[in-house]
Amino acid sequence: MIISMRLHASREEVDAVCERIQESGYKVHTIQGEERVVIGAVGVGDVTQCLESLQVMPGVENAVRISAPYKFVSREFQPARSKIRVNGVELGGDRFVVMAGPCSVESEKQIMETAEAIASAGGNVLRGGAFKPRTSPYDFQGMELEGLKLLRKAKEAIGLPIITEVMSDGDIGMVAEYADILQIGARNMQNFALLKSLGRCGRPILLKRGMSSTIKELLMSAEYIVAHGNPNVILCERGIRTFETATRNTCDISAIPVLNELTHLPVVLDPSHAAGKRSLVPPLARAGVAIGADGLIIEVHPCPEKAVSDGAQSLTIPQFRAMMQDLRPLVELWNASRAAQAVAIA
Ligand code: PEP
Ligand code: MN
Repeated sequence: MIISMRLHASREEVDAVCERIQESGYKVHTIQGEERVVIGAVGVGDVTQCLESLQVMPGVENAVRISAPYKFVSREFQPARSKIRVNGVELGGDRFVVMAGPCSVESEKQIMETAEAIASAGGNVLRGGAFKPRTSPYDFQGMELEGLKLLRKAKEAIGLPIITEVMSDGDIGMVAEYADILQIGARNMQNFALLKSLGRCGRPILLKRGMSSTIKELLMSAEYIVAHGNPNVILCERGIRTFETATRNTCDISAIPVLNELTHLPVVLDPSHAAGKRSLVPPLARAGVAIGADGLIIEVHPCPEKAVSDGAQSLTIPQFRAMMQDLRPLVELWNASRAAQAVAIA
């Protein structure tokens, strides 16, 4: 923190500020300028609370934070990219990762057929929701444990690791038994009790950005998980709410390079929920690869018109294959550029 005192603040006012800083556990560095005193506070503590009290002290003109409030996930703390390994797949490494599958697990036939198609088209991870956060309580809520069992069956048959959503604290143990990556949906990004428990769950977490959350809030939520013991967090941009109605959400594509500057955690793009419309998914996916995301998460359904959730934004299997084909040259460039960066760093 940096505290600038007012012009000609009294000696007593400066001393009181220094004392308050020390009481909060920080070390004080005072710079005596021509006209004013500037105080630096260095250390670890509850910055927000300390700043709030300093800002209203007599003689203080301004008190500001200088380091990011999300310490563990920041690039300052760890300049090198985090690599997260899940069953032979690495996020944040030098291979681009594609996760794909239906919004909801609906039946054995649906998940098997989709898993097979995703693997054969070059996808790396199978997605599928067994617990669904739905706006209406009357909409399909997911197959729950039955859905998790079907995901496991698909994994055993096809070999792709599984990502699936967990919505509540009490379900973490059960979901972690079946899933390789736990997805935290946009609506739960600031469920702090859930985030704290995820710190202890021992599985990588894919944390989706809340639909009205800032990038800083996303990073603070990731910090909760890391600070509670789980460093394996993958961030996901899935579109935010704006005044625009042409798309379900607005794909904040610039969030990806912004996050890449601010954090070492891997970042993936979900163009399906961002767009809400299947024709927009392949162009947004291309943008995601080009702009430096570490991967994509895409909704695919063997028969989207019959899907119980998010059919309009789900690609058919042939459309997914075509998209993967179309992305190939870009993904090869991406892989080569990451490999070159890794060599340059070594
Ligand atoms: C989903 O992935 O199906 C989902 C519900 O996503 P989000 O939390 O981003 O809305
Ligand atoms: Mn969905």
